[in-house]
Amino acid sequence: MIKDIPSLFGELVFNETVMKERLPEETFRAMKKAMNDGKRLDSALADVIAAAMRDWAVEKGATHFTHWFQPMTGITAEKHDSFITPDKNGGVIMEFSGKELVRGEPDASSFPSGGLRATFEARGYTAWDPTSFAFIKDSTLCIPTAFCSYGGEALDKKTPLLRSMEAINKQTMRILRLFGNSSVTSVKTTVGPEQEYFLIDREMYEKRMDLRFTGRTLFGAKPPKGQELDDHYFGTIPTRVVAFMKELDRELWRLGVLAKTRHNETAPAQHELAPIFSTTNIATDHNQLTMEIMKKVAARHGLVCLLHEKPFEGVNGSGKHNNWSISTSDGANLLEPGDTPHGNAQFLLFLCAVIKAVDEYQDMLRLSVASAGNDHRLGSHEAPPAIISMFLGDELTALLDSIEQGTGYDAKEKVQMKVGVHVLPRFPKDTTDRNRTSPFAFTGNKFEFRMPGSSLSVAGPNIVLNTAVAEVLCGFAEELEGAEDFENALHELIKRTIKEHKRIIFNGNGYDDAWIKEATEVRGLLNLPSTPDALVRYLEPKNIALFGKHGVFSETEIRSRYEILIGNYCKVIRIEGLTMLDMVKKDIMPAISAYTRKLADGLNAKNACGIGLCTDYEAGILSRLCALLGEISACSDALEAELDRAKAIADIQGAAEYCKDKVIPAMEALRAAVDEAETCTDRNAWPYPSYSDLLYGIE
Ligand code: ADP
Ligand code: MG
Repeated sequence: MIKDIPSLFGELVFNETVMKERLPEETFRAMKKAMNDGKRLDSALADVIAAAMRDWAVEKGATHFTHWFQPMTGITAEKHDSFITPDKNGGVIMEFSGKELVRGEPDASSFPSGGLRATFEARGYTAWDPTSFAFIKDSTLCIPTAFCSYGGEALDKKTPLLRSMEAINKQTMRILRLFGNSSVTSVKTTVGPEQEYFLIDREMYEKRMDLRFTGRTLFGAKPPKGQELDDHYFGTIPTRVVAFMKELDRELWRLGVLAKTRHNETAPAQHELAPIFSTTNIATDHNQLTMEIMKKVAARHGLVCLLHEKPFEGVNGSGKHNNWSISTSDGANLLEPGDTPHGNAQFLLFLCAVIKAVDEYQDMLRLSVASAGNDHRLGSHEAPPAIISMFLGDELTALLDSIEQGTGYDAKEKVQMKVGVHVLPRFPKDTTDRNRTSPFAFTGNKFEFRMPGSSLSVAGPNIVLNTAVAEVLCGFAEELEGAEDFENALHELIKRTIKEHKRIIFNGNGYDDAWIKEATEVRGLLNLPSTPDALVRYLEPKNIALFGKHGVFSETEIRSRYEILIGNYCKVIRIEGLTMLDMVKKDIMPAISAYTRKLADGLNAKNACGIGLCTDYEAGILSRLCALLGEISACSDALEAELDRAKAIADIQGAAEYCKDKVIPAMEALRAAVDEAETCTDRNAWPYPSYSDLLYGIE
């Protein structure tokens, strides 16, 4: 029997309803406090909770438990332990203690630590995060955990995310108290990550070494039809894909993930899933789960889900729009324009805090989305450029202008705009001028950060956003707490912030070359086009100071993150380069060689019969392909040499820059020659499925 959705939803989650049912009243209350206000749980209570979790999980068929964590690999990690414990009679009982719930000790030595391992203990530990619910996956009870070294250094993405949420909570509460709000007990940031992905046929995927090893096509001539007709976006979803989406939604709902919207995206074979937003920590966990479940469900349908930022050249890549806001324990959204002058003043202050934070920490936001994959996507095909700017829309921009200049906002009434005195007009949520080229857009009651790539964990960008906004709010609070006249000080602060940071606001077309010139030359905004340009900004003193001050990253942790990420960039490019060489040497050159021999044989046979006049076709292709084969061979030697040189560079930043400046161009040159050869080779003689097969292979 097919279950109805409300009873199916969250059935694999140890959520509040289950806790309320299964925990003693007092334990439940303590657990809620831990979840909502980050209060520490008494260790005695952990035993009670663990026992309830085990009973519930075993009833649902679970045999194992695991601490589920998010190391710096970018994917999640788990090590399963069964519940079995020997009893006195040679049998077993199912056990799970509070100690096992609260803390685990996976061998940390094989996870990236960026030098932390050398300085500290090799082992790490995982610690239960009670703010995210435990769930069952593959008959295993999964406990969301943070992952740290013995010295307490974060080795994962969750620890700093939780710290950044604490930082923004603390500073926002100061501001709310200044506005006379005494009822709110905590604030949390909220996130709704829209996930783009490609689905392709598994059989074709298996035939492409580049897709299997690197997640993207390293070769492939453009198909006759790409996305130019815009006939895929929101189009009818193919039957096989609908079947996949249906199962995906059900699996996600069972895990308590609020999967809401599904549709075709712009590129052929590209789709999107958007959840309903939740608190940042849960949204991050759920997004990691969503990516994992997408891959698993695709496999059951003979499909492969590609989460790479740029699987195919010439059509759109995939991103992950990070919708972000701040929400109070009363359920109010602090980025929602208010209905009263007082409410509006508060809204404007938070808006200004985000504007200032984005301007001052442009580099951190940019680097939070930097990866070898995303470098192919930013700045082209419906992805924002690598320069950070903010879109506020004409209406809100005009309003800020009028505040800055002290002129009337309402042209008809010619009223002097004073913050905290006037009611602002409501900003329509879906204004028609939705600007797709902006990296950071205000969309009515939240900001949408559009730079994150599709495979990225959203932890990184949200750590930066939360911390940068916390820092600005801290400065605002200091200024306002000491003010004699709050209203006046508030007005002056907002006015000054607009004046000092309006350079970051840009409502025009971000794809325009003129914008790049204006942004960098007139406005002095940062243009960090590649991952090595961006990542090195981790080490800027102002950034180290920011994270240190708010307890989000120590300097050691920042340096370790920089090392891991820059090292990862070099590794990804090396793997791509080696994969290309393997494909070229073992498949592509032999295929061209065989095909040209066939053409030459045909040509000889025809000449022997004295019908050489009809052989222009063969002769033309034969000479072009022979020339290309020579070029491919030379380009492949050149790439091999560059890869060797990059590997020999000891300085990690230098190696990354060498990859960007030398290895990638060598890869591009090789690809250009191969792609041209593909266009003049018999399709049956080409060793790989073509772009047409891959992009249009699903009915
Ligand atoms: P689109 O951007 O495609 O027009 P929406 O604007 O409706 O779609 O929402 C996009 C995403 O933003 C959804 O995941 C939604 O849940 C999320 N979202 C809406 N409100 C908030 C909020 N206050 N905080 C964080 N995310 C939000
Ligand atoms: Mg959107």
